Amino acid sequence: MKLKFLGASRQVTGSRYFLEAGGLRLLIDCGMFQERAFLERNWEACPVAAREIDFLLFTHAHLDHVGLAPRLVLEGFTGPILGTPASVEIARILLADSGKIQEEDARYKQKRHRKEGRSGPRPVVPLYTIEDAEKVFPLLRPTPYEKVVTLNDRVEVCFHDAGHILGSAMLELRVREDGGGVRRLVFSGDIGQWDKPIIRDPSLFTQADFVVMESTYGDRDHEPLGDVESRLEEIVNDTVARGGNVIIPTFAIERAQELMYFLSALVYQKRIPNLMIFLDSPMAVNVTDVFRKHRECMDEETWALFNAGQSPFHFPGMQLVRSTSQSKAINHLKGSCIIMAGSGMCTGGRIKHHLVHNISDPHSTILFVGYQARHTLGRQILKRPDEVRIHGQMRPVRARIEQIHGLSAHADRNALLRWATHLQSSPQRVFITHGEEEAAESFAESLRQQTGWTVTVPEYLEEQNLESNKS
Ligand code: ZN
Repeated sequence: MKLKFLGASRQVTGSRYFLEAGGLRLLIDCGMFQERAFLERNWEACPVAAREIDFLLFTHAHLDHVGLAPRLVLEGFTGPILGTPASVEIARILLADSGKIQEEDARYKQKRHRKEGRSGPRPVVPLYTIEDAEKVFPLLRPTPYEKVVTLNDRVEVCFHDAGHILGSAMLELRVREDGGGVRRLVFSGDIGQWDKPIIRDPSLFTQADFVVMESTYGDRDHEPLGDVESRLEEIVNDTVARGGNVIIPTFAIERAQELMYFLSALVYQKRIPNLMIFLDSPMAVNVTDVFRKHRECMDEETWALFNAGQSPFHFPGMQLVRSTSQSKAINHLKGSCIIMAGSGMCTGGRIKHHLVHNISDPHSTILFVGYQARHTLGRQILKRPDEVRIHGQMRPVRARIEQIHGLSAHADRNALLRWATHLQSSPQRVFITHGEEEAAESFAESLRQQTGWTVTVPEYLEEQNLESNKS
């Protein structure tokens, strides 16, 4: 058996691992590189010839895990792509949207280059188009949780809930070796937080010979969760009392639906007044439809809500907005409302229009519920500057700026340790990936100290022979 690390090595994006085992060549995830320093890798051919890969297995539908699948298909991959049913549906929405963004990006760059009278480092073409993304769809094979799937006579795979986003999975592979022994490999994917709303907790394993695990928060613990619901209640009621709107920049997958979950609870319990609540993002609305269809992914608490007739995705006041005209109409409404829109870091999308209409209004509140990366408009606004540039114009910042922590989709250091140390027998090797260098190294050290296991942090393109130490 051979394992090669084709991404997410000492960084958090570009998850992609190549496993040669039991006569098969498997790719686990095929993610886009999203950190500025590594963007060039998206344009390079897959380090393993796409034509020679038998299966692509993907853990979940985030761009840094599936975003390069269209490139792989362009390079000649024709094999089946396995993901859970909910993942497969979200992946379609995500990849089509990504193709659209790539096309828009290329058009924008062409225009800029023409204006500046120069040519870029390469002819500006999209990384892939919507049409390219759609070529992935016929290869997708929805694979239910907890079903053992035979890939050939020696290799089996099973998808277990990862508790990260709807449909997210950890992969357990069983490989029968030449001598007849069976080796187990576990790929953690992204490990969710325990007790998150809507979805179930991450799966735990008692046995594995080789583990590849993420370490996004490997060097730190989350701040105590606090009571998200009460904070939300307070902020909404405050803003309504002032006669303003609550504007929430949100990601389309999971965060938007979590917010709906909390807001629905406040509405059903009459803790906030009757008001219009808008989810103004065609992509988030499409993803919400996938949530509605896939109750099999949800935890007991959410089932109980459905059974009591209190759907978190359909409740009094909640409006799902797809069309641009509907979106524009929101700004002419009288009275307070809550508007959730993308993008989550205010880098593009409809949120910018709502910011233009509300950021200079002292009655309104801009509420951040997710991480804001450096150099984004979201991060800038969080610093509460006197004014900020949106759509090419400086706008005074007079709205209240608030932030709610506690909605992370990733396990923190303690939860990662809890997950790994659930194993009852020592794995032969543990590989730490999907974390910034410091986080990955620090987590590897914590795990070594706690267990005495062999834990390594692989480099990009590092290859490991997974020899059996049982003879
Ligand atoms: Zn993820």
